[in-house]
Amino acid sequence: MPPSTSFDVLIIGGSLAGSASALLLLRDNPALRIGIIEKSTHFPRRVGEATVEVSGYFLSRVLGLTGFLNETQLTKQGMRFWFATPETRSLPECSEVGGRYLARVPAWQVDRSTLDEEVLRRAVVAGAHLLRPAKARNVQLAPGGTQTVTVESANGTETLSARWIIDASGFTALVARQQGWLRPNTDHPTTACWARWRGVQDWDNLDLARRFPEWGAACHGIRNTATNHVVGDGWWAWFIPLRGGDTSVGVVFDQRRVQWPEGPAPLGDRLKSFLCAHPAAAEILREATPIDGDVKWRAQLAYTCDPIASDGVVLAGDAAGFIDPFYSPGMDWLSYTTTRAVELVRRTLAGEPVAPLVNAHNTDFNRSINRWFDAVYRDKYAWMGDYELLRIGFQLDLGMYYLGVVSQPFRDGPGALRDPVFSLPPSNIPYRLMATYNRRLARISEKRRRRGTFGQANHKQRYLLNGFLPDRSTGKPVLRAILSWLALELREGWRP
Ligand SMILES: Cc1cc2nc3c(=O)[nH]c(=O)nc-3n(C[C@H](O)[C@H](O)[C@H](O)COP(=O)(O)OP(=O)(O)OC[C@H]3O[C@@H](n4cnc5c(N)ncnc54)[C@H](O)[C@@H]3O)c2cc1C
Repeated sequence: MPPSTSFDVLIIGGSLAGSASALLLLRDNPALRIGIIEKSTHFPRRVGEATVEVSGYFLSRVLGLTGFLNETQLTKQGMRFWFATPETRSLPECSEVGGRYLARVPAWQVDRSTLDEEVLRRAVVAGAHLLRPAKARNVQLAPGGTQTVTVESANGTETLSARWIIDASGFTALVARQQGWLRPNTDHPTTACWARWRGVQDWDNLDLARRFPEWGAACHGIRNTATNHVVGDGWWAWFIPLRGGDTSVGVVFDQRRVQWPEGPAPLGDRLKSFLCAHPAAAEILREATPIDGDVKWRAQLAYTCDPIASDGVVLAGDAAGFIDPFYSPGMDWLSYTTTRAVELVRRTLAGEPVAPLVNAHNTDFNRSINRWFDAVYRDKYAWMGDYELLRIGFQLDLGMYYLGVVSQPFRDGPGALRDPVFSLPPSNIPYRLMATYNRRLARISEKRRRRGTFGQANHKQRYLLNGFLPDRSTGKPVLRAILSWLALELREGWRP
């Protein structure tokens, strides 16, 4: 067999999860023969644009992209949420939750078409063999033996082989779908519609600051480069600015709670009219239009894969599962799945027994994704549209993330990314606490709906946080948020 068809590792998908895997493997062992199969000729823009603290750490400190990110992308300023009631008429009347100052731990708003191209370029410079454009069609697994992939390209159809396959094909999830490993999460029926837009107003522009001086002065940081979330009952929308002036704007909704506007109008027009029913979006999108050909729709976003690894194949990034884009955890998941996939391949190629490593891999990631969903996302869409509930829930979620998750790589280094969220025993109690308050807030939201008080504080309230640090100092604000939750329970949780 000619050398170019036989590899140590074949990677399906050359975007972030795939190229990062290649880069990390080659950094450890430059002699490895790594092939990357990528079907696109160039990466289009796509979702996965807001990094958070863990994915920011992975891109900057693990992959070494800090300089590139600073020069070519935007520094992110945390998350911000905007609420409204039917009486809310203008942006400053919308209740707001967000940071008062700039963020203290780095993260970026990234254009994936340029970021992924750079990571792939670096993987090729490091020695990866790139097949592009080339589409992986079929994967034949031989546990413990040689795996084969049928690939179509301009050269026709060929069969490539490798000891290991890393499936980084994103939502395509080629291996998981072919093997019947992919399970839609039917407890979480969410749909998304999004586009890149031109003409979106800058949240910090002078016109807004002059028209609404008190509103402008309330935030001492920068609102525009945050991920701004416009929130309604059962849905939320993201506003993510990209370097160069375009803005990614999209909505995610719970299919059980939101009736999406159907009709003959183009999807982009319906997206705009849906969003502009909210005064914050109406102001910011007044002059904006979705870029032609860039309006996307995806139903049933959430799925898990079981197993995530077997002897000869391991899944990374979206190919290994997806929960929800709220709070932008996708690239955190990618950071963990990629780090550990690389570890699995590296150790088994060095001669360690495969079975125990594969078993531990599956146990850890199954527990992680199931608990992550349970602790943070189950029934979240029931209460995210209520300012008071989200103010408490967001502080708790963010504080727990800083205390238990973000603190780990900053304290222990990149090795901390081998252990995905909620996979280690010390996370048992935080997991139960998070699952409990999320469940309780959902229950309280239903009571509020029955009493007609849901979202009452969505008008003219503002809550600006000073920002958290990834250390014990975050314990105090978390404790305060727990007390706010308990006070809420006393006021209305157990009320008949
Ligand atoms: C609505 C929505 C919003 C999101 N927002 C965020 C966010 O703000 N922040 C965040 O962190 N995450 C977000 N995510 C998740 C985000 O998409 C993922 O974190 C990230 O893009 C996954 O990257 P990846 O490399 O695994 O897959 P992808 O970026 O999907 O890349 C897969 C690659 O595989 C290639 N490929 C596919 N099939 C084949 C084949 N058969 N042969 C060869 N190549 C193939 C594709 O061309 C592509 O290049 C969002 C997801 C959704 C659905």
